[in-house]
Amino acid sequence: MIYLDHAAATPVATKVLEAMKPFFSAEFFNPSSAYLPAKRVRETYEKAKGEIANFVGAKGNDLIITSGATEANALAFTSVNGVNEARSENAKILVLETEHASVLNNAKKYGFETIRVDKTGLVDLADLERKLTDDVELVSVSLANNELGTIQPIAEIAQILREVRLERLRRGVLTQLLLHSDASQGLELIDLNVARLGVDLLTMNSGKVSGPKGVGALYVGRDVRLKPLIDGGGQERNLRSGTENVAGVVGFAKALELKKGHSSFARKKYLRLAEILKNELKNCAVEPVFLGNPKRQLANFLPLSFPGLDAERLILKLEEHEVYVSTGAACSASKGEPSRTLKAIGLSEAEIAGSLRLTLGVLNDEANVKEAGKIIAEVVNAEYRRVNE
Ligand code: PLP
Repeated sequence: MIYLDHAAATPVATKVLEAMKPFFSAEFFNPSSAYLPAKRVRETYEKAKGEIANFVGAKGNDLIITSGATEANALAFTSVNGVNEARSENAKILVLETEHASVLNNAKKYGFETIRVDKTGLVDLADLERKLTDDVELVSVSLANNELGTIQPIAEIAQILREVRLERLRRGVLTQLLLHSDASQGLELIDLNVARLGVDLLTMNSGKVSGPKGVGALYVGRDVRLKPLIDGGGQERNLRSGTENVAGVVGFAKALELKKGHSSFARKKYLRLAEILKNELKNCAVEPVFLGNPKRQLANFLPLSFPGLDAERLILKLEEHEVYVSTGAACSASKGEPSRTLKAIGLSEAEIAGSLRLTLGVLNDEANVKEAGKIIAEVVNAEYRRVNE
């Protein structure tokens, strides 16, 4: 097979699996138990958490471990209308119109408004500033979009929020204003540091970086107050009860260790592979429209459209050749609805219907992307002939 869908899932690295194994068997103890072997498991768990936190320049205590990015995003939003005495009655969240469903659908439970993006998926900062009214308590902008790979200027947004906070204080408005970023995509390719980014909350996702699925983390700045989504035994500072997923956290830490210091190398590799693939696509009868922002795009993302062709059919034909790609976000694609993100960037219906998302990763090399490019061109050309006959 040739796998070109690393934004949807990544295979767990062998070293990650090896690191996790003992915690399913010999080291199975509950980290909250009082005897020595359990205490050792607690130590390993806290150390692994510290390593995950360190990857983004934070401390283990600043992280809440969750069942993935969806839960981390939902937990981040509990900071709204929380314990702040000066909270606004009509507290509002601002989110990009192109956010992942786990951000948008959770934001909808609160007052929320969307911020516009341009035709490359980049945040419209003027629209953000216009919408930063006094009732806005939280702004949520993903580090990189999961359909286009467009990288958002998070530090610039943080600076805007700092100025708004000061300006509010001058007027005696005490409503909190926090910045959340979902960094599910891009953890491998962008060097992240929460202080440099200026975020108060940051979502991390293990399943996208060759760690186990179903594990995520929320970085929570020291001044941020959250409310638990579920109550129980009080683990994770009372914010996420339930026996700790020791194997999952150890695996996530190992996965990040393997990525550490490799972002520049990975970026160069993906850019080279993308060029090879694009070169093969020159043989397509329908010229592909490349989507996203070429200057600010995750190097492993190659979203594109073949206007006039049906991407669903292309995917099935590619599957016959064991080439696996996706149309827009895997989750919205499975519902058969046209992608919200592609609509937001103003694509025509034909462009949306013909859009594919190719995302490179650990399973790709020069030979298999060249082969994939050839197969895609063949499939596109066969479909083009079928449509035009
Ligand atoms: N946020 C983004 C940007 C994603 O790409 C994904 C995964 O597709 C998620 C959130 C959801 O992650 P999970 O399935 O781990 O909850």
